[in-house]
Amino acid sequence: MLIIQKYGGTSVANVERIKAVAERVVKTAKEGHKVAVVVSAMAGETDKLINLAHQVSSAPREREMDLMLSSGERVTCALTAIAIEELGHKAMAFTGRQMGIITDDVHTKAKIEKIAGERAKKALDDGYIIVVAGFQGITESGSDVTTLGRGGSDLSAVAIASALNADLCEIYTDVDGVYTTDPNIVPEARKLDKISYEEMLELASLGAKVLQTRSVEFAMKYEVPVVVRSSFNDNQGTLVTKEDEEMEKVVVSGVAYDKNQAKITVMGVPDKPGIAAKLFKGIADAGIVVDIIVQNVSSDGKAADISFTVPRTDTKKTLKLTERIATELGAKGVDIREDIAKISVVGVGMRTHSGVASQMFETLAKHGVNIIMISTSEIKVSCIIDAKYAELAVRVLHEAFGLAES
Ligand code: ASP
Ligand code: MG
Repeated sequence: MLIIQKYGGTSVANVERIKAVAERVVKTAKEGHKVAVVVSAMAGETDKLINLAHQVSSAPREREMDLMLSSGERVTCALTAIAIEELGHKAMAFTGRQMGIITDDVHTKAKIEKIAGERAKKALDDGYIIVVAGFQGITESGSDVTTLGRGGSDLSAVAIASALNADLCEIYTDVDGVYTTDPNIVPEARKLDKISYEEMLELASLGAKVLQTRSVEFAMKYEVPVVVRSSFNDNQGTLVTKEDEEMEKVVVSGVAYDKNQAKITVMGVPDKPGIAAKLFKGIADAGIVVDIIVQNVSSDGKAADISFTVPRTDTKKTLKLTERIATELGAKGVDIREDIAKISVVGVGMRTHSGVASQMFETLAKHGVNIIMISTSEIKVSCIIDAKYAELAVRVLHEAFGLAES
């Protein structure tokens, strides 16, 4: 088999950890597999570099940021290759450029366009373990270094797995896999053996931060089987893969929460065509990602209230913009609320089972939790609630859907 093994920041945090990674990699190779390793920078390193730049400038140029940020992963990939050689196995380190990872030229959040990888393939065929610097690529013309956005080495690993036609992409981190919910809130949370790409996407974008969202989208598109597991033990991990019949029998797979949302309400806008279009075009043009949207028309049918949520990091920007648009639209006013949380239950089994939403609402009601907004998709029901009830809601929903039992 050809196996890609990606090691995150905590797995390569220091020399001891890097040596442990080298041992695991060599062990896998000795089992008869070809191994391509992808590494992150040492834990905290990328933050440290960003911080340095901000001490020099309040708006550092992104081209230079990328050049600097790519250095963290260059250090760990070279060190890991050296550690593998030290154990007596042939190893070769590759930067993004050497790996032939071609991206667009959107610095600090570049998209991978293709991976040439000829030299890496040859090295694998010649019996080398290759170690690739994650998170980075190079523009088509080859003249600039790019990075793929925070957490981007997950994406590097999945894209390399797809380009090299690997049999498996293992993502090594500091947790045992994907859980039914955050074990810090619910100690009985259970590790899932298997989860579908779609569910993983919902859980990842909902704040269960084991895998970078874009890497899951990529894995789903190219059907790369991904295993999330710990580099600190030999536990089995969670397989992220295509939906199957077995998964569909499980109605709810997980409960996620997101405390990084803010709710904005535009009150008393005229009830006529084009209002929502104007509001949300303005917000989208500013690059702000809107999540839940609810509109209600007043009983006299003349005016509407529109509420929506955005990431809390974008609150100020959104509020300013919304106030301006609201004035243009002749709205009565704009209101904002930050002390909210989004709680979601996720599961592919919802497609064929009814009653999940009502069970969720009943459970919240029973515990006196008021629902502020509701949104549903085929495999998810989300409620916006008062932030102070977030942990309680996660606990009671986890219990109500029987997630602790396997
Ligand atoms: N080092 C980068 C970051 O901290 C990429 C990664 O770790 O995946 O965001
Ligand atoms: Mg990560």
